[in-house]
Amino acid sequence: MSEIVVLGAGMAGYGAAHKLKSAGVDLSLYEKKNHIGGHCASYVFDDQWVFDDGPHISFSKIEHVKKIFAENIDHDYFEFEANVDNYWKGKWIKHPAQVNLKELPAALNTQIMMEMIAAHQEKDPVINNYQDWLYASYGKTFSENFPMKYTRKFHTTDAINLSTDWLGPRLYKPQLSEVIYGMLSQKTEDVHYIKAFRYPNKGGFVSLMNGIHDVADIQFEHDVVSINLQKKELTFQNNKKVDYKYCFSSLPLKKIISLIEDAPQEIREAADKLAYTQCVLVNIGVNRSNLSPAHWRYVYDEDFYTTRISFPSMFGPGNTPPGAGSIQVEIYFSDKYKPLDRKPEDFIPIVKDELIHMGILNPLDKILIEKAWVSPFAQIIYDHDRKENVELLHAFLKENDIFFGGRFADWSYCWSDESFLRGEEAAEEILSKLAVTI
Ligand SMILES: Cc1cc2nc3c(=O)[nH]c(=O)nc-3n(C[C@H](O)[C@H](O)[C@H](O)COP(=O)(O)OP(=O)(O)OC[C@H]3O[C@@H](n4cnc5c(N)ncnc54)[C@H](O)[C@@H]3O)c2cc1C
Repeated sequence: MSEIVVLGAGMAGYGAAHKLKSAGVDLSLYEKKNHIGGHCASYVFDDQWVFDDGPHISFSKIEHVKKIFAENIDHDYFEFEANVDNYWKGKWIKHPAQVNLKELPAALNTQIMMEMIAAHQEKDPVINNYQDWLYASYGKTFSENFPMKYTRKFHTTDAINLSTDWLGPRLYKPQLSEVIYGMLSQKTEDVHYIKAFRYPNKGGFVSLMNGIHDVADIQFEHDVVSINLQKKELTFQNNKKVDYKYCFSSLPLKKIISLIEDAPQEIREAADKLAYTQCVLVNIGVNRSNLSPAHWRYVYDEDFYTTRISFPSMFGPGNTPPGAGSIQVEIYFSDKYKPLDRKPEDFIPIVKDELIHMGILNPLDKILIEKAWVSPFAQIIYDHDRKENVELLHAFLKENDIFFGGRFADWSYCWSDESFLRGEEAAEEILSKLAVTI
């Protein structure tokens, strides 16, 4: 048994194992499920329908990761520029809405424009939370009609409860001239911050990490249930015990703390404060492929559960049987702000009705497959409890020779390539420790 243990066969575990293996270091990789992928998993039904664990497409700009992903599928991928739009009060509005407001009533647009001008003139606005940032960037009326509604659906809480350290390029901040142009013209420039997307032609998104099998002999169905930091010992649900010298974890931060025997009270309390969403995924296959002009669509109206709609059949030809189309709908909940109160399959008829209402499904469509499940850790909620508690927990893990990385271990918004990279970075820390101790 190796002295280096990697926990989790998702992207971060893959990145860590890849780096360690490249350095000639043996490792043992344990995964609680019976398949690879973690959040990047793809599920195949009836040998012909592929649905990922939430919509996944690759837009990596990290060259060496992009190369590894491409080589894992022999460069057999579909590349496309995405069309994205928004559903708002019965209208379809090109994304991002702030520069495509032509469909809105003139009186509302006038108010939006006046407030945007005033917001742009404000010098050094005070920004204490995401709502402040929205008001300062777009004015009150646009913010309340678009991003603040979506925030309640996607983050499950109000913008005032969120920080701004997750924003990055996610929300487009236009010049006033672009806003005016979008109010007057039907044809506007594409300003999405990502231009080119890749998706494997077969096998779903998870194929991008096929190479994990070359760098680790994965021990599946090994669910870590407790960690003894003093003895440096892991216990699995099957009662197996494993000693380690260095441990890399891609497990959700909140989860790993709950597994640590004798974790101090202060540490447990910090972990309890971390908020995250669960995502109900409703997946539908239909007997026609022309379901949407957009690859994915955001739904703002709060009387619909549906939050984001994507079309896996448009991502890659291998996701459906020939001539068919597929839809994946995300609906978000969180233990802290909006607990999930019913079974995932209960959402199937609700979502089908909503898709008919929005004109995506037709009552005459033949539904060929329908599946729903919950993805238990989906998005990190950047509320005001996040930053200081995450710092405290990370410091605790580091002091105890638990290395970590990835979306849920870092408790941040890592994309798949960044999760891989974070696994590599943590493995480098382990390698530098080994260099000292060898
Ligand atoms: C809805 C959604 C859409 C996304 N879309 C994109 C996209 O389009 N493009 C993109 O690049 N990224 C996307 N991402 C981000 C991407 O999914 C993550 O960056 C990536 O999957 C995180 O990998 P990870 O290894 O850090 O964590 P995980 O994937 O969660 O891997 C952790 C692994 O640890 C295992 N594990 C958990 N507990 C235990 C235990 N006790 N014992 C043993 N093993 C355990 C899990 O089973 C899992 O396999 C999206 C994420 C979400 C939620």
